Amino acid sequence: MPILGFGVYQMTDAQCEASVLEALRIGYRLIDTAAIYGNEEAVGRAIRASGVPRQELFVTTKLWVSDAGEASAIQAFEASLGRLGLNYLDLYLIHQPFGDVHGAWRAMETLQRDGRARSIGVSNFQPDRVMDLIVTNQIPPAVNQIELHPFHAQSAAVEFLQENGVQTQSWGPFAEGKNDIFNNPVLTGVATKHGRSVAQVILRWLIQRDIVVIPKSVTPARIRENFEVFSFELDTQDMQQIATLDQGTSAFFDHRDPAIVKWLGARPS
Ligand code: NAP
Repeated sequence: MPILGFGVYQMTDAQCEASVLEALRIGYRLIDTAAIYGNEEAVGRAIRASGVPRQELFVTTKLWVSDAGEASAIQAFEASLGRLGLNYLDLYLIHQPFGDVHGAWRAMETLQRDGRARSIGVSNFQPDRVMDLIVTNQIPPAVNQIELHPFHAQSAAVEFLQENGVQTQSWGPFAEGKNDIFNNPVLTGVATKHGRSVAQVILRWLIQRDIVVIPKSVTPARIRENFEVFSFELDTQDMQQIATLDQGTSAFFDHRDPAIVKWLGARPS
């Protein structure tokens, strides 16, 4: 899969269609959406309008909690494919580690064997939940998409996933701008040193840790800026400086907080 992709969370349909089209024009090939984002149809329209051949694309969408289960996951997958206007997906993820995850996983194994999902994975799974899935099923997850940015570096989880052959993917690489990330003194220091932006430094820091990144933007100049991260390199000192920003905790919410489990579990897809 491409190491750099494009995320489409929290976009209106119009923003999504225009931004995905622009991203594809610039050269992004991985597009990350989800049933719960409500914009799979807009992604599909942009893909068709782009003229990029299907085989060059890497399209990911995700199964929502309310559809977890062996039969319901197949139905939800088919509904997502229909909305996207595709006949296969490159990656299908279980969005949250809640509900009938094992039933959903058996359905996803079937989808992979049928070739309708080229690969299958999970999101927001803690290492213990990943191991449970590995030991009780046939196909291990190819990917775990987790919150990962300078304030939540997830070093232990990344190491665990690497040891178990699961590709780490970062969501929220900019922590959605939280903690004034774009003006952080450490990050602006490294950015100035390289004549780059803070966003580019963050993406480099992730890519150099072999983490797949999917930054989101609805702003054409930023969509381009976030793609121009392959012609410079951070050194060991830069990497170590950025590592000092780790707060060891989520900038959003804890997936093990019962109130969060209840809130996410109650959301219809
Ligand atoms: P993000 O990429 O960390 O941050 C997006 C924010 O940063 C937007 O406000 C964007 O502004 C701004 N931005 C982007 N590039 C910038 C730049 N070069 N300079 C300054 N500001 C910049 O947040 P995210 O959307 O939450 O995460 C990325 C993707 O991960 C999502 O789109 C989604 O695909 C995925 N995700 C998955 C989960 C999950 O549970 N699996 C959860 C969250 C997200 P503008 O858009 O206004 O330009």
